[in-house]
Amino acid sequence: MKITRRVFLGTGTAMATVAIAELGKSNRGLAQSGAINLYSSRHYDTDQALYDSFTEKTGLKVNLIEGKGDKLIERIRSEGANSPADVFMTVDAGRLWRAQEAGILQPVSSSTLKTKIPASLRSPENLWFGFSKRARVIMYNKDRVQSSDLSTYEDLATDKWKGKILIRSSSNIYNQSLIASLIEIHGMSDAESWAKDFVSNFARPPEGNDTAQIKAVAAGIGNVGIANSYYLARLKRSPKAENKDVAERVGMFFPNQNGRGTHINISGGGVAKNAPNKEGAIKFLEHLVSPEAQKIFSEGNNEYPVVAGIPIATVLKSFGDFKSDSTNVSVYGKLNSDAIKLMDRVGWK
Ligand code: FE
Repeated sequence: MKITRRVFLGTGTAMATVAIAELGKSNRGLAQSGAINLYSSRHYDTDQALYDSFTEKTGLKVNLIEGKGDKLIERIRSEGANSPADVFMTVDAGRLWRAQEAGILQPVSSSTLKTKIPASLRSPENLWFGFSKRARVIMYNKDRVQSSDLSTYEDLATDKWKGKILIRSSSNIYNQSLIASLIEIHGMSDAESWAKDFVSNFARPPEGNDTAQIKAVAAGIGNVGIANSYYLARLKRSPKAENKDVAERVGMFFPNQNGRGTHINISGGGVAKNAPNKEGAIKFLEHLVSPEAQKIFSEGNNEYPVVAGIPIATVLKSFGDFKSDSTNVSVYGKLNSDAIKLMDRVGWK
């Protein structure tokens, strides 16, 4: 996540702010029918296009309340029965799980969502749904590493990568979910000994976000890094020459193609427990699986659509097809606290 944050996005949001403040103070039922209140921690500027296309289609406005995922969960929880939140959206299944555990979501029965979203990318209890996919891949320095040197996440713990690996801190949910996936596959004890060796291969103590790892790979601080797929796509599409140059030097490798597939995660959301406009909220979620919205996820933020048959962004095509790990992403939530403890034990800062 970015360190500095925009509080509100887009035009007309000052009015939305006022509306939300008023809703909190007075009758939460007021002004609900023509709008939905969306609490979102997705940190991508292009999401405005998702909201605009929804408003165009339904006439419902989107009042956006932006914040960090865990803060928004806490806010909705503390607002309780008076919460104006209709929809909660965030990134990573691990955090959607936290929202579920905090009791801020309600189950949704929608055949549209069920048919369009693969079962592994939504909550088995229908509390949240994945709307876009991201792969957590190996980024490698093309001058120093051949793709044939790479194979699996597991291999990154071997001695040949000593002092060569770049990855962000263990406080990051993307990494927690990756470790949760390894616990699920290998069991706690094997995952822990793997993680111990993996951490001993770090090129430096973890610092910076996913983009910083890719830049460090390009700069040769390490030979390989782990980051989400869309960050390299973003650098590739950047108008800045220095970003394009970074992207030129870095290759993307999809690990575990001869086995379970590459670790993937979702961005997703659900209907808030006390949604004043539940009907509008469900319409919004259903809009997010429409072909036009799925295209915006891909073209706008370089994520993979969850719905089959949607064309992906050109930049994603350039990375090639890959096999995804089909573990239900809810597992990453269930094992989140185990993953955090494991990372702590092996000294992953
Ligand atoms: Fe991100």
